[in-house]
Amino acid sequence: MVTALQFSGGKDSLACLHLFESEWDDIYVVWVNTGAAYPDVIEYMEEWRQVLPNFVEVKTDQPGNIAKYGWPADVVPINSTSIGRKLMSGDGPVIQDYLSCCGRNIWAPMQSAMKDLGATRIIRGQRADDSHKGPLKSGQLVDGVEYVYPLENWSEQDVFDYLRSVDAQIPSYYAKGEVTGRDCWDCTAYLEENVNRIQGLPDEKRVEMERRISLIDSAISSEWHGRSIIARSAP
Ligand code: SF4
Repeated sequence: MVTALQFSGGKDSLACLHLFESEWDDIYVVWVNTGAAYPDVIEYMEEWRQVLPNFVEVKTDQPGNIAKYGWPADVVPINSTSIGRKLMSGDGPVIQDYLSCCGRNIWAPMQSAMKDLGATRIIRGQRADDSHKGPLKSGQLVDGVEYVYPLENWSEQDVFDYLRSVDAQIPSYYAKGEVTGRDCWDCTAYLEENVNRIQGLPDEKRVEMERRISLIDSAISSEWHGRSIIARSAP
């Protein structure tokens, strides 16, 4: 059996890491470095690299992907997608859906690393009450690979309680009200969960994020007219 634990540095995968401490010598711990990670996350992972015998860093190119496919957003105006921009004139930003962006920069590269490592047991920190989660359940077998979600029935509070009980090094940003991990400093999606993270950025980066989000807002509102256009053209 080859086991790989998918580690983002966020609280849930950190709890998994501690739960499997007795197996650290035998499991791969895999982190996707998107190329847009926060400096403190890079430092945090460097510390783990020194501790974990089988730490694997998967490097991806989020900045290059964003330059090609656009800023991620929770709502995507079609004419602003990379293909839409080729068909329609316009000087607004290129925008992509956040699922494709995470898929290209995090999920597909992580899956590919699992294959390269020959993982037959994959551990993830997915919880049933996560707002975004994959369709598999803990213990499910897919193509000979077992997916293990030890926190499946845990609440967020259970995770923090457990981390405190084992004296885990909980990333300090959680104390500032951030609720997501820090895969990419310039993520313009998952906005409901990302407000505190964006507001906590250094001034220059926060202003840049506000600029991008404002341009995404304009692109969305310029393409969507809904019922009002029908009402306008009614006889
Ligand atoms: S976190 Fe945001 S910027 Fe990073 S890969 Fe996912 S959607 Fe893209």
